[in-house]
Amino acid sequence: MKIAVLPGDGIGPEIVAQAVKVIDALRSDGLAIEMEYAHIGGAGYDAAGDPFPAVTEKLAKEADAVLLGAVGGYQYDNLPRPQRPEQGLLRIRKGLGLFANLRPAMVYPELVYASSLKPELVSGLDIMILRELTGDIYFGQPRGIRTLDSGERQGFDTMHYSESEIRRVAHVGFQIAMKRNKKMCSVDKANVLDTSMFWREIVTDVAKEYPQVELSHMYVDNAAMQLVRAPKQFDVILTGNIFGDILSDEASMLTGSIGMLPSASLDANNKGLYEPCHGSAPDIAGKDIANPLATILSVAMMMRYTFANDEVAQRIETAVRKTLQQGLRTGDIAEAGMHKIGTTAMGDAVVAAL
Ligand code: NAD
Repeated sequence: MKIAVLPGDGIGPEIVAQAVKVIDALRSDGLAIEMEYAHIGGAGYDAAGDPFPAVTEKLAKEADAVLLGAVGGYQYDNLPRPQRPEQGLLRIRKGLGLFANLRPAMVYPELVYASSLKPELVSGLDIMILRELTGDIYFGQPRGIRTLDSGERQGFDTMHYSESEIRRVAHVGFQIAMKRNKKMCSVDKANVLDTSMFWREIVTDVAKEYPQVELSHMYVDNAAMQLVRAPKQFDVILTGNIFGDILSDEASMLTGSIGMLPSASLDANNKGLYEPCHGSAPDIAGKDIANPLATILSVAMMMRYTFANDEVAQRIETAVRKTLQQGLRTGDIAEAGMHKIGTTAMGDAVVAAL
């Protein structure tokens, strides 16, 4: 297993260092894992004048999986757009063809108080949102701002999904559902949008290959409502790029703890980029207070989805659970009066639990 490690900016290097400790512990248990480091984001700009330097691209393409911290920082905010840190992220996703973005929203019993919803609504919550990441209105052409014959200016974008784009992400969704509770809800806006009507038709067709999975469809406005009304009704949610962008952020906040949420972005062969859902948190960088658990849980996802090693994935997840059960908390997930520990101590605690 070859992993490209891209710590990035802000808290990225600190949290990735804890995930690497976990990987090192797995290596000493006999797992054959190789790691190689490269720069991305602001760190790429500082090292090579480019947020996605050619050496990073080469390494990411050669590796089986990529572990990324986060990108971004105040010092890069005034750079021209092509040099901005986030361009590094967009380019690596596009360059590696990562079309399937998986974001679990899980509430650990120990952290149920962190949610803004009532405990009974979120206790035991375990949803997987699968967002198509390389198509839809975010990439459709033509787009722009034009002047109409009337002289009025108009902004416009184009929403489209081709059959192959829908099929491949639907397959990923059904395969994930097969490994979970075998329920998938496809979210669209088929009552208004032709793109969504087509999406629904193709997803329904792909479903014939997965008779064990119970498929349902929901309009996106209703899904947004159901996520805060009764979120535990969902298992896997499959949706397009723009709806997924919004719903995955909504779902992640049901858990109340952004420092706990991992993510995976996969290509057609399950090669993946794994990163926490949060950003580079420049406000707390270098203080040894960031929560490394989202990054550590991203390694668990890597084991499950790229390396098809569910046993190791579960070992990591269980180690995180045990750490929480021991009452260990970084500041972002601590209740008033709880003893807080730092980034490094949290990494050490997970390794000890592992
Ligand atoms: P952010 O996620 O970095 O931070 C939001 C808040 O959550 C901050 O108060 C931060 O301290 C806190 N936080 C985030 N991660 C945490 C952790 N692991 N432990 C404890 N607290 C944590 O979002 P932002 O402040 O909007 O953006 C900061 C920078 O990150 C910007 O430059 C932005 O562009 C970038 N960003 C990068 C990514 C990415 O790399 N995928 C995603 C979002 C934002």
